[in-house]
Amino acid sequence: MKLKALQISGFKSFADKTTINFEDGITGIVGPNGSGKSNIIEAVRWVMGEQSAKSLRGGKMPDVIFAGSQDRKPLNRAAVTITFDNSDHFLKTDYTEVSVTRKLFRNGDSQYLINQNDCRLKDVLNLFIDTGLGRDSFSVISQGRVEAIFNSKPEDRRTIIEEVAGVLAYKQDKQKAEQE
Ligand code: ATP
Ligand code: MG
Repeated sequence: MKLKALQISGFKSFADKTTINFEDGITGIVGPNGSGKSNIIEAVRWVMGEQSAKSLRGGKMPDVIFAGSQDRKPLNRAAVTITFDNSDHFLKTDYTEVSVTRKLFRNGDSQYLINQNDCRLKDVLNLFIDTGLGRDSFSVISQGRVEAIFNSKPEDRRTIIEEVAGVLAYKQDKQKAEQE
């Protein structure tokens, strides 16, 4: 499984539709302060289901929508699509290419799609559970997170290790079964 492309439109500083294609090897994103590097990583976390506006450096979720600049009006919609090459079926779906889209409108309406089909947030979260991807995963390590992991409570640290080990899905199934 491999990250292929990221398409950002109306999200944070990316007013125009911007596509980043990830070629083989390592991709580095460089640019001056404030040019949008962190916004790209936040787009990745957002499209995979991040629900905390605060962790995206905003007060409320619509703050991720392009807020306008000196010469541009604010936009009404943010949209991000992430595309994976899934020919090894690492993501548990029959698709050999998987794209996930999230859209948010200023009136609060939101939409999630997997391969252009409407779905629920839960479907997106399930797609990434125990893969090491996903909104809370260890594959996206933001500034300060390493320190936060070291300083976290043992139970929280255990959750991180369980996700790495791939047992979180079973644990959640067990909890659900016990509630029923
Ligand atoms: P640094 O090198 O300092 O870490 P960076 O390249 O990571 O910088 P970002 O933090 O990604 O930069 O981008 C910050 C810029 O994004 C700021 O100029 C900010 O005004 C802009 N920005 C954030 N949210 C929005 C929004 N909703 N609409 C328009 N611009 C936004
Ligand atoms: Mg930054």
